[in-house]
Amino acid sequence: MNKPTILNAKNLSKSYVQADGTPLQILNDFSCEVNAGEMVALVGPSGSGKSTLLHILGLLDQTDKGDLHINGNNVTKLNEVKRTNIRRSDIGFVYQFHHLLPEFSAVENIMLPQIINGVGKADSSSRAMDLLNSLKLSKRADSRPAKLSGGEQQRVAIARALANKPKLILADEPTGNLDPETAEEVFKMFKDLVQKSGVGALIATHNMDLAKRMDRIIQF
Ligand code: ADP
Repeated sequence: MNKPTILNAKNLSKSYVQADGTPLQILNDFSCEVNAGEMVALVGPSGSGKSTLLHILGLLDQTDKGDLHINGNNVTKLNEVKRTNIRRSDIGFVYQFHHLLPEFSAVENIMLPQIINGVGKADSSSRAMDLLNSLKLSKRADSRPAKLSGGEQQRVAIARALANKPKLILADEPTGNLDPETAEEVFKMFKDLVQKSGVGALIATHNMDLAKRMDRIIQF
């Protein structure tokens, strides 16, 4: 049976007005699909528009033209409240820098998005511990981000992105700050979790070796 399409972008276009008043076209009729359980690499040089695209797909920015479906819902023309709800329930983000909250422990950082979504303390803690366990970090649950290594911080950030069981993960250079060995370790665990959880993942990367090991490459 075919895996459901989680992300379906059709003919997206986006331009910005530059300081001199002329438009800068970033996306021009861009289309892509990501299916459940699929890990897709988004590859392109710096400045080619990968972050802009991820912001649009993550409902943090609007497209000028085109249609965007997430988990079967047409989200193109939804109001901000509905977009925020879909962003919270269906989409998880991983950035190049972990952006964990420094005053909270690893487990608390993974509990927080769940608590914001209305999950109780016991359930959110249990889900957070399961995720930490899958990422071989149970022993670091009570550590604050500053006490974790770069690779451990990114693993907690991946767990946080998956905390609310999203359908779609969007990642912007998730291993870009790590040394090659750590990047490899984090990538393997990330890929494993994507396959196990059935989430669809679109991952912007400069690392062609990692991109080639994903299910598909979209070249920008
Ligand atoms: P990438 O992630 O591939 O490096 P970006 O999406 O960050 O590319 O940027 C693509 C282009 O869009 C760049 O030239 C950048 O300067 C421009 N850009 C991004 N955001 C804005 C904005 N808010 N206003 C004007 N130009 C922008």
